[in-house]
Amino acid sequence: MTAISKYWNELTTGVDCAALTHPGKSCNEHIRFQLGATLWGNVQFVIPIWMLRFFLLAYTRRAVSWEIARQTLFEFSAMIANGWIVSNSWSAGFCAIYHTFGRIINNYSISLPGLPGTLAMFWMPAYVQMSHSRAIFNVFLECWIKSREHPVMEYARESRLVGTVAFMLISALIGHYSLRTKAVEFWFFAPLKKDLNPTGDKRQANKVCYHREDCRSYILDGMKTCFTFGMILELARKLIASIPKIRKHPSTLFHALSRMRFKFVAFLTLYNGLFRLVNCLLAHHRRKVSPYDSTLAGLISGISYTLSPNFNVFNLAVTAMIQNVWNYVSEKYARLELIQRMNRLSFSSITWIILMNYNMYSRAYYPYAMSKYALKFTDLCSSSQACTASECLAKLFLSAS
Ligand SMILES: [Zn+2]
Ligand SMILES: [Zn+2]
Repeated sequence: MTAISKYWNELTTGVDCAALTHPGKSCNEHIRFQLGATLWGNVQFVIPIWMLRFFLLAYTRRAVSWEIARQTLFEFSAMIANGWIVSNSWSAGFCAIYHTFGRIINNYSISLPGLPGTLAMFWMPAYVQMSHSRAIFNVFLECWIKSREHPVMEYARESRLVGTVAFMLISALIGHYSLRTKAVEFWFFAPLKKDLNPTGDKRQANKVCYHREDCRSYILDGMKTCFTFGMILELARKLIASIPKIRKHPSTLFHALSRMRFKFVAFLTLYNGLFRLVNCLLAHHRRKVSPYDSTLAGLISGISYTLSPNFNVFNLAVTAMIQNVWNYVSEKYARLELIQRMNRLSFSSITWIILMNYNMYSRAYYPYAMSKYALKFTDLCSSSQACTASECLAKLFLSAS
């Protein structure tokens, strides 16, 4: 891809915005079309996410209420508005940059038109900020890892052993820091931070673990929750992929459902089960809970990653680790002015703004390194604008070489 950069000016001389992003349409026609089409594209993208959020809230609160419906509908509308603004900002911005400078500028014409739209994230509800910034960070990490060409990176990328060991270490850090913070970050296991047994009960039952129920129920409950969560997650993933095609080909849904990743669900179930089991074994062995139990349990349970190594889980773990380390540092050094100032900034919004614009750049320059999911959501939310731009750019390059 460096070749494109090198010959960019020669390649794009005499090429206008229409040739790259809206062949056969004027700028005005194109923007008018995009404004309508991206609305529907974003609705299609958000429906499965909204369903997942609704079910998870109902599951954790053990109730289906108006409050949950109202909250999730508000977030749902905010997500649609956000995707719609970003996508149209990109389409209009691309044409505007071309008409202002009279040419297509390498890198900037691709990565900057979405910038004004991404700023909308500052006004989004907290859940949208958090979920979008995490998702985009995962997309970025996967694309970055896959597009590195160093031989060591190439080896590490392909090796199941390296992946599993790296996951075990990251999992150990999550276990270590999530125990030492007040903030609760979502992860597939949660160490018990304090003893849930009243003192009298404990002495009577001769209990060592922090959980109230017996060890067997505690472990099985965790596995059951993770199994349910994994199944819902897989179902949502398949729905995201097949909903746009269901109207034309209803069989897509059955085909997608038959290809659910059961190994992934098995990993989640085993991961949580092993984490709880190791915690219980260590506490029983020592007759006492130690603050290092969750570190060791995080490390050992990480071995289950070998069942279903994939970028989504790996990157999610990296995000959870960074978040937990940051929570620990910001709680420990809460009095430092630098930490207070950093906490006031909306970190998740800033992450989203930088990485979403990088995502636009990657969609054009490194489409082969992006996850299928990232390609799908970029194309769906932009009503195939991203795909058209990427193809036109590739054609331009191929015609010149
Ligand atoms: Zn144009
Ligand atoms: Zn136990």
